[in-house]
Amino acid sequence: MNCTPKDLLQVFTSYTDILLTAHVSPDGDALGSLSALAGWLRSLGKKVIVVIDDRIEEKFFAYDGCRGIVRPEAVKADDNRLSVILDATDMQRIGKVAALITGKVMNIDHHVSNGHFADWEYIRTDCAATGEILTELFRIWEAAITPAMANALYMAIATDCGFFCFANTTGHTLQMASYLVDAGAEPNRISEGLEETTMNKLKALAQVLQEIELFAGGRVAGISFTQEVQQYTGEHTGGYIDYARRLKGVDVAFTVKWQGPETTRVSLRSKEVDVNVIAGAFGGGGHVRAAGCTLALPLEEAKQVLVKEIEKNL
Ligand code: 5GP
Ligand code: MN
Repeated sequence: MNCTPKDLLQVFTSYTDILLTAHVSPDGDALGSLSALAGWLRSLGKKVIVVIDDRIEEKFFAYDGCRGIVRPEAVKADDNRLSVILDATDMQRIGKVAALITGKVMNIDHHVSNGHFADWEYIRTDCAATGEILTELFRIWEAAITPAMANALYMAIATDCGFFCFANTTGHTLQMASYLVDAGAEPNRISEGLEETTMNKLKALAQVLQEIELFAGGRVAGISFTQEVQQYTGEHTGGYIDYARRLKGVDVAFTVKWQGPETTRVSLRSKEVDVNVIAGAFGGGGHVRAAGCTLALPLEEAKQVLVKEIEKNL
């Protein structure tokens, strides 16, 4: 059951050592939220360690807290430390960081598929981003938001609602963004930093767009990131799916990504269909219009199984 903002503040106050983490394959929301929360806790004199079981995309290094993130191998378990899991639904989503968590756990998240596993939880599925939840908490706590925290939180919110274009954008989302701009967030610099690309990446995009496939009479669009394709895109393939979703007539867009001979990572986006249900059929989850899962199948087979499941839900 959800704690109150006051309960959360009391928990933070009662700990000195705090570990912060978020889901593997961390996105803007995960990293912006980690950055801001780490910044605030450090300003209170807490000993904070931020751990992620994955590589961080370079574009996020512009945010203070992202540069000091460590891998789980560099950390020891400690029963007396508070662990805070941001933007993740369950312990599986944080990869090897789970093994470091032997003490109490706080979970702040906005996914509809949240597994309600923590000692203290604050789950707000009405919020577009974990960054939106944190902004509201900081406001309630009357915590000082520095320009660095404001930038990180604005980035968190903006990336999870497609820069205020997606259906999860509410009046509250915009209010929190407005509060952050007043606290020093710079929307133009944040967008420029995330949009900035290289000639190689732009050419990779041109090539990837050639590979989009249509299914179900044009209502489903998919992109396959085989090992060969990943040679020119690199491992971070998160941005491409939005192009497939834009196609006229397409409701569900997906990517299937080679992660091993029998491991395929799936991302789903939609305009209407509940893709959380589709991802859930394979043990994954997420949101109504953005979800993911991992299939223990080779890429081609995974794609076929996935398309069948999507078609059932159209
Ligand atoms: P993405 O496609 O960007 O990896 O994920 C889309 C959304 O679904 C994100 O909010 C992400 O946290 C969630 N998600 C992705 N994969 C999984 C998964 O395997 N399990 C769960 N529970 N959520 C996921
Ligand atoms: Mn999120």
